[in-house]
Amino acid sequence: MDPEAALLRVAYLLDRTLAPSQKALAFAKATETVRSIGPAALAAKAADGTLLELPGIGKSTGSVIAEALAGKVPHYLRTLEEASEVPISDAAAPYRAALKGDCHLHSEWSDGGAPIEVMAATAQALGHQYMVLTDHSPRLTIAHGLNRDRLLDQMAVIENLNEELAPFRILTGMEVDILEHGDLDMDEDLLDRLDIVVASVHSKLKMPAEEMTRRMVLAIASPHTDIVGHITGRKVSSAQVTRVLDGLDQAGPDAPLEDPDRDASPKRAQSAFDAELVFAACARFDKAVEINCRPERQDPPDDLLELALEWGCKISIDTDAHAPGQLEWQAFGCEKAARHDIELDRIVNTWDADTLLEWASSHPTG
Ligand SMILES: [Zn+2]
Repeated sequence: MDPEAALLRVAYLLDRTLAPSQKALAFAKATETVRSIGPAALAAKAADGTLLELPGIGKSTGSVIAEALAGKVPHYLRTLEEASEVPISDAAAPYRAALKGDCHLHSEWSDGGAPIEVMAATAQALGHQYMVLTDHSPRLTIAHGLNRDRLLDQMAVIENLNEELAPFRILTGMEVDILEHGDLDMDEDLLDRLDIVVASVHSKLKMPAEEMTRRMVLAIASPHTDIVGHITGRKVSSAQVTRVLDGLDQAGPDAPLEDPDRDASPKRAQSAFDAELVFAACARFDKAVEINCRPERQDPPDDLLELALEWGCKISIDTDAHAPGQLEWQAFGCEKAARHDIELDRIVNTWDADTLLEWASSHPTG
C-alpha cells in the first residue's frame, strides 16, 4: 500500500471519529514529510529502522509507513476503518440517499482543516451534487472568520474551482454570526451576492430568553438568512456523543441514558428562547431550521425539532464539517429525520442546486 495514501486515509478516519484534531494533524504532517522526502529515501529509512528520525514521524505514523511499505494494509488503519464506520439504519437510509448536497461546512479559510478542493472532492465522492461553503464571518476571530476582502477572494477561488469541478457545484455562502442585537456579521452587499447564508449564534448564549428571542427573530427576518444553524447552541454529554457515533441513538438521543457510568452531563446548556416565536418566524419567512449533524451538537433537541415541524418549518440536514471525514456525518442527522418522520420534500438539501437557489432568492417574501 502507498504510505502517503495510508496516512491520508488514517487522518480522514480520525476526523470521522471526532478524535482530537491534533491526532489527525499528526498524520497530515507525516504525509507532508513522506511527500517531500520521496519514495526511495523513505524506503531506505524504513530499511534502516530510522523512520522516527524524520521530522513529524512518531510511533503511530512510523508504523503505518513501515507496514504500508511492507505491502500490508497497516494494522492501525484496518482497525480504525472498522471502528469509525458511520452506521445508518434502514429507516434513515432513504433520507441519506435523497440528500443531494450539504449546506453547512468549513474549509481551512476559517477553522476547517482542509482546502476547499479537498472538501469538494470528498463531497463529490460521497455522492453529492453540490456543497455550500460556509466559512465563518469576521467577528468570529477565534475561528479565523473571513473579512470582506477574504470573502471576495474566496468567491473568486470558488468561481475557478467550479469550472474544474463541473457538473459538481460549490455554492458560495457563509456561516454568519448573529450578533448580540440580531444583526448579521457581514456587509449587506456581500450577503446579497452569496448563494446561501447560514445564520448562527456563537456568543452570549446565556442571554435572557426574551433578548435571545428578539435577537434570533430579527436574524431570521433578515432577507439574507436562508438557514438557521445549530439553533440552541448546545453541546451534549460525552455519553450522547458516543451513542450517536456508535449508531445507538435510533430510540432518540435525548432519551434517558441507560449506562450510569458514562458522563451524561451536557457540555454546554442550550440557550433559552421562545421557541414558538422563533419557529413561527422561520415558517413565516420560509427559512430552514438546520438539523446539525455534529455528534457533539445534535441540534435541535427532539422536542424542539417536533415543534419546528408543527410550525411547518423547512429543514436542512447539514454536517457543519470541519474536515473531509466529517462530511459523512449526515447519516446522524438522517437518523433524527427518520425518527421524526420528516417528509423528504421539505428538506431543502434533497432539492437540486437550482431549486435550492430559487428558494434562497425568493426570500423574504415567503
Ligand atoms: Zn459551522
